[in-house]
Amino acid sequence: MIHKKALITVALIFFIVAVSYGIYRIKNYNVNREGKNHDQINLKVNHTKKEDINKNGNQLNTAKGRTFTGENLKYNTQSVPVLYYHSIGYEKGNELRIPKEKFREQIKYLKENGYTALTMDEFYEFLIYNKPIPDKSVLITFDDGYSDNYENAFPILKEFGLKATIFMITSSIDNEKNFLTSSQLKEMENYGIEVESHTVNHDKLDELSYSEQLTTLKNSKDSLEKLLGKKVDYIAYPYGRWNQDTLKASKAAGYKLAFTAAAGWANKDEGLYTLDRVYVSANHDIDEFQRRLTNDNYNSSN
Ligand SMILES: [Zn+2]
Repeated sequence: MIHKKALITVALIFFIVAVSYGIYRIKNYNVNREGKNHDQINLKVNHTKKEDINKNGNQLNTAKGRTFTGENLKYNTQSVPVLYYHSIGYEKGNELRIPKEKFREQIKYLKENGYTALTMDEFYEFLIYNKPIPDKSVLITFDDGYSDNYENAFPILKEFGLKATIFMITSSIDNEKNFLTSSQLKEMENYGIEVESHTVNHDKLDELSYSEQLTTLKNSKDSLEKLLGKKVDYIAYPYGRWNQDTLKASKAAGYKLAFTAAAGWANKDEGLYTLDRVYVSANHDIDEFQRRLTNDNYNSSN
């Protein structure tokens, strides 16, 4: 008898535990499902937000760039000077190499005269979404990716706290003397100097077929993205050379903006894949630098 009673008790306990566990599982399942639904709703909301354009400033809610407020702002009906440099160093008779002291004088001028150096994303948001930028905005860019950009330009940019972009020839990375190494590129990118594409081999794009153009545009983008763990959305065409295929291939490769070497300030009416830049030469004195920076029509009076 005792044996039978014990058996029934054990069976009863087992039954209660089983039922409790079942209820617990069902409850938990509902919580999880609710959690999932909640995430889905969030995703939907975020998705809508991405497309949501602010009526006032036409700006993205998911903007990557700084938001500038106050007076003295400009909108995308106006142009912006995009300075372009190559090497920061000295070589007699080579105007592409700007002596360090001269470069420092120019960067100091920008800082002391209240210029804001924009990032590429900020410039993109200005052009596309009409997100306002300070009236005195500028972009500082370097073509090719010389190691003196790290040795000479980087310390000066840090000293004055200005952002810049390097358009890098990707086959030169860790490969050619006098060009930036992957660790230098990573260090600068971490600081806020953006590294973007200048093709794989400094290609004359207008001499390549469409598919060859697409290959160098894609491969340079992919290798920088892999190296730096970020999206590479911008390119400068080597020698400023391009043709109609270049524009199609740049779009197809996923670039958002592209720069030429044509002289002038940049604006959206030029086309997002043929943006002008302002050349800086070692032969220019600070007055010429200032003239190019303050006169959006500097080229016609040259
Ligand atoms: Zn170049």
